[in-house]
Amino acid sequence: MSSDKSSITVTILGSGTCVPSLQRSSCSVLMRIGANRLLFDSGPGTMRRLLEADTTIFDLNYVFYSHFHPDHSAELVPLIFSTKYPDGSRRQSPLTIAAGRGFAAFFEGLKTVYGKWIELAPGLLDLVELNNTSKVLKDFTIESAPVEHNPESIAYRITSSDGSSVVYSGDTDFSDNLIELAKGADLLICESALPDSKRVKGHLTPSMAGEIATRAAVHKLVLTHFYPDCEEVDIMQECRKTYRGPLLIAEDLMRIEVGS
Ligand SMILES: [Zn+2]
Ligand SMILES: [Zn+2]
Repeated sequence: MSSDKSSITVTILGSGTCVPSLQRSSCSVLMRIGANRLLFDSGPGTMRRLLEADTTIFDLNYVFYSHFHPDHSAELVPLIFSTKYPDGSRRQSPLTIAAGRGFAAFFEGLKTVYGKWIELAPGLLDLVELNNTSKVLKDFTIESAPVEHNPESIAYRITSSDGSSVVYSGDTDFSDNLIELAKGADLLICESALPDSKRVKGHLTPSMAGEIATRAAVHKLVLTHFYPDCEEVDIMQECRKTYRGPLLIAEDLMRIEVGS
């Protein structure tokens, strides 16, 4: 593991969707920046994949949600409930959970079902709503912008102290905001849910993701969030119609180093 304070180590925890798969867990990405552990989305299976990436839920200091669809958010409740498990490694430092507009209401809804099972001791849980905002946190900056999927959907850009940058699209249709947010980024992690021939509204295909990457002039593109239809076609070739730069097809537990 890199101990560099300013590099970003990305681990794809889940490259899949809502469809149960032994190869592709539901959506989630882990980023390590110095001592920080940032989780992006937590679909079903995330906590097990985290352990496979040598990380426990107690190591996380931030969780960022792209939107509230269950394949991205369903393990929020188990994550908080597991945090209450009274063993020696119980959480000592605060966990910040951030998402787009409506997150406070979403969480209140969960509380009407789960009550104090998803409450932590005072000071340990910080809930934040983000939208079109830029926040400077310890060792990194996080920016967000609305994308074309759900009303609460946002994409994220993380920039470390040396300027290394990673953008996470979440789910989206073609998005000018995503192009703007991803301008010149070292890495764009972009959804590519279905093949070009099976495009659906609210999602991207490989050639659409490629066009976004080209227009944003990113330095590397990794495609993820693959429905089973994607296993039947050459995703890389479809993306090559619109993008010529470095390209990766995500697999669960794939690790990518960004920056020094
Ligand atoms: Zn979605
Ligand atoms: Zn999704």
